[in-house]
Amino acid sequence: MLTVNAYAAPSSDTPLEPVTITRRDVGPKDVLIEIRYAGICHSDIHTVREEWGPVKHPLVVGHEIVGLVAEVGSEVTKHAVGNRVGVGCLVNSCKECENCLAGEEQYCLNGNVGTYGSVDRDGTITQGGYSTHVVVDEDFVLRVPESLDFAAAAPLLCAGITTYSPLRHWGAGPGKRVAVVGMGGLGHMAVKLAHAMGAEVTVLSRSLSKKDDGLRLGADHYFATEDATTFEELKNSFDLIVNTVSAPIDLAAYLGLLRRNGTMVNVGAPAEPLPVTVFTLFRNRRSFAGSSIGGIRETQEMLDFCAEHNIVPDTELIDASYINEAWKRVLSSDVRYRFVIDAATFA
Ligand code: NAP
Ligand code: ZN
Repeated sequence: MLTVNAYAAPSSDTPLEPVTITRRDVGPKDVLIEIRYAGICHSDIHTVREEWGPVKHPLVVGHEIVGLVAEVGSEVTKHAVGNRVGVGCLVNSCKECENCLAGEEQYCLNGNVGTYGSVDRDGTITQGGYSTHVVVDEDFVLRVPESLDFAAAAPLLCAGITTYSPLRHWGAGPGKRVAVVGMGGLGHMAVKLAHAMGAEVTVLSRSLSKKDDGLRLGADHYFATEDATTFEELKNSFDLIVNTVSAPIDLAAYLGLLRRNGTMVNVGAPAEPLPVTVFTLFRNRRSFAGSSIGGIRETQEMLDFCAEHNIVPDTELIDASYINEAWKRVLSSDVRYRFVIDAATFA
């Protein structure tokens, strides 16, 4: 076992603090990664605060991880020492159910192993990326293209794939009108990716305070949802709405913006239920859907797409000692647009 430095949440309502944790020995199919950078996702905060259900504390979160391969097991074929690699929200799955066989391990029918807070195959609880090292099954380790800025690439492992997957699934591309609700970590990636796919992109943010950024990132239009006329003006407009908001929203108002056969997909994950009136769906034969991260194959495809199109998140690099302050800023939507922790500062 390897003892490594990390930052853990001692409970649901106390600040994160430096700790040491152990990582398992490198098994035949495992890769030991020396973490270089770890992104801060709003899901880290929902999880620690037990907004989605009980959690075993102390917990190390973080599922936007990039680093260098430090050691490989005897049967590893996909990765070599020194390679730039990444790990997202998944570190294992059954590999044999129909969803795993389809490359959609995020929907593993036997329960996948999440990067943190999941029961691992040895019965321990997984601990995430706010740490200096992690040991992961080689099948769940991604290649990070050399051309991507390494620190900025970290959030691609969650914010990138979580927006890429629904944009691809629902055919974002030329001739499609895509709206992105909420311009935070996920939202700003949805704007960049949908634009690169060739869609006409509209941002629906609460105010116009980030309008210049939105247009710079690739949006064609930008509207404030605190202005009620927005919902009149944009009625029956969009083929696809990607909702990234971390809190409940007035679903009916947004569904009304879908044109015929349009879909609104929720990736934002508020704890509270979102009530839906079926008559809003009848009109224009609208769909309301959800989407969870993306499979390993698609995550690699997304990384390669970002390299090809020169896309990385807009990030603010921080030291570990700033994590608690960064979390406060995420909660007050004061993030432009993703915090990334320099893992050297966990030491
Ligand atoms: P984030 O950076 O905090 O962004 C959320 C955005 O939502 C904010 O920037 C803000 O945008 C808007 N917002 C926040 N509070 C709001 C409120 N009370 N009312 C209306 N709008 C509000 O969070 P994130 O890291 O992008 O994550 C977003 C959500 O996606 C979280 O719930 C997270 O858990 C979830 N998530 C889901 C998956 C998945 O697999 N489905 C994966 C990762 C994350 P404006 O300021 O522009 O209005
Ligand atoms: Zn995440």
